[in-house]
Amino acid sequence: MQLKGKTRSTKIKYIFVTGGVMSGLGKGIISSSTAKLIQLSGIRVSCVKIDPYVNYDAGTMNPIAHGEVYVTDDGGECDMDIGNYERFLNISIKKEHNITTGRIYSQVIKAERSGKYLGQCVQIIPHITDAIKNSLRKIAEDENLQVLVIECGGTVGDIESLPFLEAFRQMELEEGVNNTLFIHVTLAPILDVVGEQKTKPTQHSIQELRRIGIQPDILAVRCKIKLSNETKKKISLFASIAENCVISSHDADSIYSIPELLASQGLMNTITKKLDLPKRQIKYQNWKSIAKSFTTQNKNIRIAIVGKYVTLPDSYVSIYHALSHAGAKNGIQVHIEWIESEKFEDKDNLDYLDNFDGILIPGGFGKRGTSGMINVANYSRLKNIPYLGICLGFQLALVSFARNVCKITEANSTELDQKTKNPIIEFMPEQRSINDLGGTMRLGSHEIEIKPGTIASKIYLSRTINRRHRHRYEFNKKYLDIIERNGMILSGFSDYGKRTEILEIPRHKFYVAIQYHAEFSSRPGKPEQSFEEFVKTASLKF
Ligand code: GLN
Repeated sequence: MQLKGKTRSTKIKYIFVTGGVMSGLGKGIISSSTAKLIQLSGIRVSCVKIDPYVNYDAGTMNPIAHGEVYVTDDGGECDMDIGNYERFLNISIKKEHNITTGRIYSQVIKAERSGKYLGQCVQIIPHITDAIKNSLRKIAEDENLQVLVIECGGTVGDIESLPFLEAFRQMELEEGVNNTLFIHVTLAPILDVVGEQKTKPTQHSIQELRRIGIQPDILAVRCKIKLSNETKKKISLFASIAENCVISSHDADSIYSIPELLASQGLMNTITKKLDLPKRQIKYQNWKSIAKSFTTQNKNIRIAIVGKYVTLPDSYVSIYHALSHAGAKNGIQVHIEWIESEKFEDKDNLDYLDNFDGILIPGGFGKRGTSGMINVANYSRLKNIPYLGICLGFQLALVSFARNVCKITEANSTELDQKTKNPIIEFMPEQRSINDLGGTMRLGSHEIEIKPGTIASKIYLSRTINRRHRHRYEFNKKYLDIIERNGMILSGFSDYGKRTEILEIPRHKFYVAIQYHAEFSSRPGKPEQSFEEFVKTASLKF
């Protein structure tokens, strides 16, 4: 396309999103929303998350400290922001899109050992920064992207993120100013005493960024209420950024309204101009109506999530989203209460669950809290309260049924008691020879065959589905007959019938549990079917 005599550049564009002031400002949502606007303009875009910690991936981290481990189709154990990108963009993202210091260093060290740098002293600059730049360019080229949005975790000033920011700075030089753009996310706190939006933290974090050679093009300023014009002016002056490039990122009713909030302040115009992108209309209609469905529900339900990582709801963030997608599509507002499963080790506490329209037991590892979960799985069966069990919630529903209905003494999972006489749930045989704990579970997407004529087949309306997994233990099929004879049906299998994936109890309002993590397949406007059916049933007045 000819543009005033010059050819529009077809080079890949890189948008870098950095954060200042403090963590937890919603950089992931700003990055996803920016990418969404680009996608809605008909441009091929994807996102990368950089986590500057030394872990190779998020798989071995405690969810209470770091939030959920998000599993990709290709079996990556990733930072939860990858989930935001997938939900906003409705695409499947490869595990390479989650770059950590560990991944970069192991790549460089491997190359050094193989003799790639023979004779050289291997250094952070250029070797580590080159590896970072190459990883980003490779993703963009391999996926034939026009724009790649790169979010850098942490806060400017962290020692760990320096090599990444240095790589971004170098990319501006190498790719050209028209092919790179920097968005810096900061905070304008309001002090109770004066009620005024304070700009000093933003000013300081921009200075920090400039000190390492990056001048942001756009500022996304988080604040409780809309940034006043006066505040925008002040920030613009101190940061040397045009006023229309200071974007107010104030609280919204739903995260899915953020793209519109940003676009209404001219974000896309600025991006299009700076990056010399084709000027296209943002095709909003469908997305806007999806976003609206999250703010216009007229029914309310209460769901108890009984788990072991409940002190940080981010530990189950995809479950939260899957429930809210299911609710929004059906006009239902889902109110969640996160309950520590240890509370139900004392059976006297179980009647607290009568206050809920549905109970969900999510995934988890290790023994703590599991006897409470087993009691809860049994209670919801007895009291006919809709139940959805996920992964550990599937395994413990089987243990509970084996103990309480089939009367199998000492029925257990070998994860909880290695020497149990009746291992209803056992270590997968393939796992026995594995010693490492990082990246060695049964991970990622696997095909599941659904038994015709079952509740599962009505939920999915399909003979096969593909869902993501993350587990080491599985149902021991030696117990299949006795379980089914007692009224629980096993209705989904994978790996040519070897692995059991779904259970259901027909004579119950809704008692379904799944070995896979359905929450990672839910999208706004397109909820995962088991979540949708669970939420719909929970909303029915019987
Ligand atoms: N701990 C169980 C297993 O490894 C369940 C895993 C999970 O809930 N993600 O099989």
